[in-house]
Amino acid sequence: MSAPIPRRSLLLALGGAALLAGCGTDRPAWHGGDIPGDSHPGDSAGPEPTGSALVVPPANPPTAGTCPANHGVVQQPGGPQHYLPCHGTDIALTVDDGPDPAYTPKMLALLARLQIRATFCMIGRSAAAHPDLVKRVLDGGHHIANHTYDHPLNIAKLAANAVHAEIARASDAISTAAGGYRPTLFRAPGGAWSPTVLQQCGSLGLRPLDWSVDPRDWSRPGVQHIVTTIMTQTHPGAIILEHDGGGNREQTLTALGVTLPKLRDAGYTFVQP
Ligand SMILES: [Zn+2]
Repeated sequence: MSAPIPRRSLLLALGGAALLAGCGTDRPAWHGGDIPGDSHPGDSAGPEPTGSALVVPPANPPTAGTCPANHGVVQQPGGPQHYLPCHGTDIALTVDDGPDPAYTPKMLALLARLQIRATFCMIGRSAAAHPDLVKRVLDGGHHIANHTYDHPLNIAKLAANAVHAEIARASDAISTAAGGYRPTLFRAPGGAWSPTVLQQCGSLGLRPLDWSVDPRDWSRPGVQHIVTTIMTQTHPGAIILEHDGGGNREQTLTALGVTLPKLRDAGYTFVQP
């Protein structure tokens, strides 16, 4: 595991004290598993419960305007987006760290079966390696966001020219693979935002996208944990973070196969941020 970024000082520097109060948990500098040999706490987890053994909490009532004051999160001007406008019953599913030849097709099949559209935050290097998957994501009606070219351990520590290169190169790689489609959203790996990252993001015409519901599925915490986190923390306006790359994503797929239909059937509408 990499050392956690100084999240508190970063947020305070961004004037995000209120944001910090609402986020609940700190995040690692890196939230994916796409570094060979890297290990995470969930890697040694025991066998997963079967679908029938899962306890699935009921969905929070998706009544327009019932997001609980966005959990106290204040979105800073020019800062990353944590929530959708909460006046409706909209929520967003975001899927990071692909495209991945093993799990992106499975994710696409699940979403197609449920007729749910998501935003795939892609690593530029992986997009360049799997242009067919990039096209399949677009063909599925999904959006693609820029998630850097190399998924650096902590982009907030990089110099401006390196940040610029990470973002610009990823947009170019995605555009080349996608036949001209260019992302309009950027998600910093690990949520490692800094004034420099935000500045470079803006200068390249991208809108910074964060999240508000994070089951830390990348750490393979168990299907039950992912399910419970999604069902209890999702309110109108939520942006849910999941992964289709960076390691074994079977827990993610199983959990989404349970939670997405419940949320949809409860009346939530999946939109793109
Ligand atoms: Zn990532």
